[in-house]
Amino acid sequence: MIITYMCIFCIGAALASFINATLYRIEKKFKWKELLTQSSHCETCKHSLSWIDLFPILGFLINQGKCKYCGAKINPYYPISEFLLGTVFLLFFLYSISFYFYIIILFLFVLSNYDIKEFGIPKNLTHIFLGLCLLIFAFTFDITKIYLPVLIGISLLIINLLKKSFGLGDILLILGLGILLSKEQFVIFFWLSVIIALLYSVVFIIVKKISIKKAKVPMVPFLSIAFVISTVYGEEIWNWVLKYLQI
Ligand SMILES: [Zn+2]
Repeated sequence: MIITYMCIFCIGAALASFINATLYRIEKKFKWKELLTQSSHCETCKHSLSWIDLFPILGFLINQGKCKYCGAKINPYYPISEFLLGTVFLLFFLYSISFYFYIIILFLFVLSNYDIKEFGIPKNLTHIFLGLCLLIFAFTFDITKIYLPVLIGISLLIINLLKKSFGLGDILLILGLGILLSKEQFVIFFWLSVIIALLYSVVFIIVKKISIKKAKVPMVPFLSIAFVISTVYGEEIWNWVLKYLQI
């Protein structure tokens, strides 16, 4: 069984590595043909990388976070994101989460990458993502899942018109992810994402010594983390909160 778990983790980590490399090539305006065919190389010294350098997480650890040819530092975003996606795949497998959610999380991984780098997500990708969520909703039709996300979505839109808070892309994402979750999971998902983003903002403001107005927070990574936690543990957290509040 442990071999199966390791394989599932490695599939997640390898997909993260592949997506990171492809997005990097798109960002650097590689030609379409080169996106998949060109071999990877160090951006500083242009030396071709061997398969062990490219191995998710391990390559980073073995080379101690540096290019072994020129010593240039490798962005820790790569091994961290590979580890996280591997862990999410393993969690989903252990808790027998529906196959649809693997597709959703891969999409969220791409959107998070954009949001972290550019503090925003491309409109066309957001629309495709919303379409995908609606398609999955139609396949697993449960009308009770739609009320709360729509209510929160409209409320956030109104707040957004009065005073800029969430971006429009974030609101559409909350709506799309919301209709895939049960009512209890959605409440946990929404509050968790707000709490994690707030905690991050506080730490960010203190560490960087900047004012609250200047603090830019990429929301998609927090929505993704909250989505994973509420998918796997949402019902349990909900029951625990009710018990704690003695409702
Ligand atoms: Zn190098």
